[in-house]
Amino acid sequence: MKRIGIFTIDDLGRVSISNELRSMLDWKVGAKLCVYHVDNQTALLQLATEPTTDECDLCGSDVGILEIKGYKICRSCSEKIIQLSVPKL
Ligand SMILES: [Zn+2]
Repeated sequence: MKRIGIFTIDDLGRVSISNELRSMLDWKVGAKLCVYHVDNQTALLQLATEPTTDECDLCGSDVGILEIKGYKICRSCSEKIIQLSVPKL
């Protein structure tokens, strides 16, 4: 992996990607991008593909998916939801 650009977030939270870089990556205007959180200083951008049927509706993970009333939730998110519902002593 190598760095191919540095971008500035504007006052409205937008990031502009140059024509040159979009052309190199074959990213068209209107393309949807996925942002993946790696750690507090690292995120990755990837051209979005059609979602698979087995992705968590909350975080996009495809590990340990449970389906509850039409919502797909991974085990990690379901554990976080349970922790939110447990009263703190
Ligand atoms: Zn999840």
